[in-house]
Amino acid sequence: MKKTYKIIPTIILTILILPALLLAGQHRVIRVVDGDTIVVDYKGKYEKVRLLCVNTPESVHPDKKQNIPMGKVASNYAKKRLAGKYVDLEFEGPFRGRYGRLLAYVIVDGVNFNLELVRQGLSPYYTKYGLSKKYDQEFRESERYARKHKLNIWGDPGLIQRYLRLKSEWGQYKTKASSPTIVQSKEWKFVASRKSKVFHRPDCKWAKKISAKNLIGFKSRKEAIASGKRPCKSCRP
Ligand SMILES: [Zn+2]
Repeated sequence: MKKTYKIIPTIILTILILPALLLAGQHRVIRVVDGDTIVVDYKGKYEKVRLLCVNTPESVHPDKKQNIPMGKVASNYAKKRLAGKYVDLEFEGPFRGRYGRLLAYVIVDGVNFNLELVRQGLSPYYTKYGLSKKYDQEFRESERYARKHKLNIWGDPGLIQRYLRLKSEWGQYKTKASSPTIVQSKEWKFVASRKSKVFHRPDCKWAKKISAKNLIGFKSRKEAIASGKRPCKSCRP
C-alpha cells in the first residue's frame, strides 16, 4: 500500500508537466534581435533566423532614422514571448535566405509566432518574396483581425498609410493556385523573369509561367531593352 502513495504524486506531476514537455521546442532561443529576427541554437550552432512572411518595423537598423517606436514595441513583444524559450522551426521553400539566415516559422508553446505577430498588428502579412505556402489563409485572417481591432500598426494613421502603400508594392492579395502566379503592378507594360534573357507582354503564355519570386516588370519597352533583355518571339512585345 505504501508504494501507491508514492506513485500517485508522480502520476499527478507527470500529468501537470506533460503538456509543457510536449509543447517545448527543440531549439533554444539565444537572443531576440528584433521583432522578426532571432538567434537560436540550431543543432549546436548559433544561427540567425529571419521569420517568414513578417516584417516588423525597424528597431535596431544601422540607419537610425529607420528605427521607429513601433519597432521597439514589436521587439519587446518578441523578447517577452521568445527569450530563453525552446522553439521549433518550420521551413518552407529555401532553407536560407540572403545573408545566410535561416528562413522559418517559429513555433513557441505550440503557437506559430509569425502568425501571432500579424494577429497582434505588429507586422503586416509580408508578401514581398511571395505568399506563404502553408499559411496564406491564416495570415490573411490574422491581418484582417488586427486591422479590424486597430491593433498596434493598424491603430496609427501614419503607419497604416505607409503599410498600405508598401502592400500595394508587394502585389498583395493576388489569388494563388487557381490563377497564374503573375503578380503585376499596374505600371508594368512588360514583364520578365529574373532568370531569363527574354521579356514579354503580361498576357503572354510564357509570362504567366514566371514565378512571383522571379517576376520583374518594366514601365516601357525601352526600359526592358536597356535591362539587357530581348523581346519574346511568341508575344512580340
Ligand atoms: Zn512572350
